Amino acid sequence: MITPDVAWGIVLEQTRPLESIAVSLADALGYCLAEDVRADRDLPPADRSAMDGYAARHADLQQRPCVLSVIGEVAAGSPHRPRVKPGTCARIFTGANVPPGADTVVMVEQTEECVGSVTIRSSVAQGANILRRAEDARKGVMLLPRGTRIDAGQVGVCAAVGKGTVKVHRQPSVTILCTGSELRSVHDRVRPHETRNSNGPALCAALSQWGVAGTKFFSVADRHAALLVALHRALKRHDVVLLTGGVSDGKYDFVRDAIEAAGATIRFHGLAMKPGKPALYATAPANRHVFGLPGNPLSALTAFHEFALPALRRLAGHPPETCRPSWLLPLAEGVESKAGRVRYELARLVNRESGLAVAPTPSQSSADLVSAGHADGVVVLPPDRPRFASGEFVVFRPWKPLP
Ligand code: AMP
Ligand code: MG
Repeated sequence: MITPDVAWGIVLEQTRPLESIAVSLADALGYCLAEDVRADRDLPPADRSAMDGYAARHADLQQRPCVLSVIGEVAAGSPHRPRVKPGTCARIFTGANVPPGADTVVMVEQTEECVGSVTIRSSVAQGANILRRAEDARKGVMLLPRGTRIDAGQVGVCAAVGKGTVKVHRQPSVTILCTGSELRSVHDRVRPHETRNSNGPALCAALSQWGVAGTKFFSVADRHAALLVALHRALKRHDVVLLTGGVSDGKYDFVRDAIEAAGATIRFHGLAMKPGKPALYATAPANRHVFGLPGNPLSALTAFHEFALPALRRLAGHPPETCRPSWLLPLAEGVESKAGRVRYELARLVNRESGLAVAPTPSQSSADLVSAGHADGVVVLPPDRPRFASGEFVVFRPWKPLP
C-alpha cells in the first residue's frame, strides 16, 4: 500500500488547471488568475500629497517663521496645476497631485492661514508628505502572478490597475454519488436497518465552505447496474465525481468495478492511512477525475480533505504547493499513535500565550462524526513513532477556512 504523500503525488501528476475564461471583476472573487496582473501605469501616477496642507518650495522654508502667499488650491481629483514660484505656495489636499515648482508639503497643522498668506513656524524636511510617482509600482511591474487566488485585496489591486475583466481558470464542476442500499435522506423516516445519508450533505457543505458552491449529491443503491448508470451520467456532466461507500472489497462494494466498467483508469486504491484506507482515485477520458471515499463519515471527510479537495484546487488553478495546506504547529498535549499507518487525528486549534498550538481530540471510531464537528482539522502523525510529546511540531491540515 502506498502512503498518502505518494498518493497525493499521483493526483498532482494527473491534474492540471482547467482552461481559462474571462470574468468580470465583480464576479472574480474566489477564482485563480490565469494571467499575470501588471501595473498599467506608475502607482501613484504622479507625485501626490499625503496630507492636507500647503505645497511649497523647500528653499522658501528656511526662514522661521516664514510667510508665503497662497496662489491657488489643488483638491484630490483636480487637474489644476498652479505654478509655485519663490515666495508662494498652493493649498493642497490628500491625494492631489503636487503642483509644479513645489517639492515639499507642509501639514495644515503646522500652519496658520490669514487673508491670502500662510505662516509656517516649524521646520519641515525637503520632500516631506509627498508620495513619489511610482513609489508603489512602476508601470509594467507584475503585481499578481497567475495562480493567485482572488480575494478582496486582489479585487482591489485589479480595480486599481484598470482590470475590469480578468482571465481566470474555470472552476471544476463536482457531483457526489453516495452508495449504500441502507441510505435514507434526512427528510425520510428511518427504520432500524437504515442509515441517514450524512456524507452527501457534509461533503456539499465542505465544498461550499471552500468556495465550490451548488454541488448536488445523489444516493445510489448497492447494485452494479444502478451505480454504472449513475456514474456514466455523472462523468458526462462533471469534471470531478466523488463517490462515498462501497469502495472496499465486500460482496456489495461495486465502486471499483463500476469505475472500471465506465472506462476510467484506477490510479490508486488502498492507502497506508487511518482512517481512509480504502480510498481510491481514478481518471477518465476528457480530463475527468473520480474519487472513491470510504463510507464511514470520518473516513470520507479525511480522504476528501487529503486528496479530493486539493485536486479541486489544482484544477481551479492553485499552484501545486498551495493545494494541500500544511501548517507546522506544536502539539498542545502529548498524543499516542499506534504505529503502522499514517494516522489522522482530529484536532482543534488553541490560542495559547506562547502562540497557536493544536490539541488532538481523539475520536472513538472512524464513524465519529460528532467529534469531527468540534475539530478544526487533523494532525497528520507519521507511522514510525508510537508517541508524540507535547510541544512537538506536527503537520496540521485545516478543514476550515481561516475565520
Ligand atoms: P462502506 O464504506 O460502504 O462499507 O460503509 C461503511 C459504513 O459507513 C457503513 O456503516 C455505512 O452504512 C456507512 N455509510 C456509508 N455511506 C454513508 C453515508 N452516505 N452517510 C452515512 N453513513 C454512511
Ligand atoms: Mg456500503
